[in-house]
Amino acid sequence: MAHTIPEPSRDVPISGEYDVVIVGGGIAGIAAALAARRQGAKTLLIEKQFLLGGLATAGLIAIYLPLCDGMGRQVSFGLAEELLRLSVRHGYEPAGDHHSQYFCPAWLEGGSPQARAGERFEAEFNANLFAILCEQQLLQEGVALLYGTSVCGAKVENGRIKALFIENKSGRSAILARSFVDASGDADLCHLAGEHTATFAQGNVLASWYFQHTGGRFALRMLGFADIPDKYKQPGSEAEKGRRYTGLDAQELSELTCASHANILADFLSKGGISPDHALANIATTPQVRMTRRLDGAYTLDDAQMHTAFEDSIGMIGDWRKPGPVYELPYRTLYGNRIANLCSAGRCISVTDAMWDISRVIPACAVTGQAAGTAAALTGNFAALSVPVLQAALRKAGVPLHEGELFR
Ligand SMILES: Cc1cc2nc3c(=O)[nH]c(=O)nc-3n(C[C@H](O)[C@H](O)[C@H](O)COP(=O)(O)OP(=O)(O)OC[C@H]3O[C@@H](n4cnc5c(N)ncnc54)[C@H](O)[C@@H]3O)c2cc1C
Repeated sequence: MAHTIPEPSRDVPISGEYDVVIVGGGIAGIAAALAARRQGAKTLLIEKQFLLGGLATAGLIAIYLPLCDGMGRQVSFGLAEELLRLSVRHGYEPAGDHHSQYFCPAWLEGGSPQARAGERFEAEFNANLFAILCEQQLLQEGVALLYGTSVCGAKVENGRIKALFIENKSGRSAILARSFVDASGDADLCHLAGEHTATFAQGNVLASWYFQHTGGRFALRMLGFADIPDKYKQPGSEAEKGRRYTGLDAQELSELTCASHANILADFLSKGGISPDHALANIATTPQVRMTRRLDGAYTLDDAQMHTAFEDSIGMIGDWRKPGPVYELPYRTLYGNRIANLCSAGRCISVTDAMWDISRVIPACAVTGQAAGTAAALTGNFAALSVPVLQAALRKAGVPLHEGELFR
């Protein structure tokens, strides 16, 4: 049997034309869309599911990790903070089974620096509410939203994406734009457009996070809690065992999903069937993979570069795993060397494997999303964009760029 079959070529209708198109409606895509729109760009957000939030909502990763450095200093601002506050606008969720604290009131207005030093600026939110609130925010601000739409190809000419090919209920069509943001989490658009990418060689452990109703409350069960990079792993630890998943193969993702479902069922039934105090409340509708494929960009940031000043910083993040480190994120981690009008945001920016574990989390995705969306609104050639112009726009939007600007 032949291993390939020619697909008939065809002309497809152009279904839209925008200044900025963002692929993927996770946290990075949401931040990118809001930022681009706030710069006045005609902006489209394309999402293959019928829900915004990506892993944070459909994936039930409902813990907004810290905006602070763990030493009492807030380091991530702008949309990272705005989205955290939006996520808990109507209340916090009770802590999951690994968290004793879901929100520290000291981080609200009037909180004392002493109290902040001991607690991190993080929150556990309701995934369903957050998804709806994000959707309403985007619509209010005039972002066009296309659900149920997969980006499945790119027409590249002279080092620029001319059009995206999309598939949805209406069939196949093309979308034109001046600039594009890959917020797919898996660098799908970078891959489709022929930009340099890299994969997470170690692969992902099986994660099966779900919500159950127990003890009169909604509780997050975090099965498959950690996927620590090799360099931090203890010999003989749980992290060393078990199958690894690349997250980039359809058959493998299907097997991961079935294995995750089986885990959830077994875990739930281990405490009996349904009772007034025991119910399976919510399972993820997207695979819970952390690191898959990323941009191999103009610069690749490493975790050793904490407290390093970068002239082209677009914002800062802390390290969710421990107090102390602060990272300035260079703009060059967002764009590559091949496709002039494409940049990435969120968990697929250009970082080393060790840095990936830090930069993939929700607040960091919002920081890079805001920068990517702002840049996309300002240019059709990311490498040529004046960094001071981008930085001025980010500062105006409330984003400090350098560690030296932080105070307690
Ligand atoms: C098990 C696990 C635990 C985690 N724990 C935490 C935690 O406690 N706190 C924390 O802050 N972070 C945590 N993370 C990380 C965090 O949830 C994600 O890295 C982050 O939410 C990623 O956001 P993103 O927008 O970059 O990507 P994603 O959330 O992956 O969003 C990408 C979006 O793009 C869409 N998409 C993808 N491809 C296409 C396409 N071709 N066409 C159209 N749409 C497309 C997807 O449907 C999705 O909505 C965890 C992750 C996992 C897997």
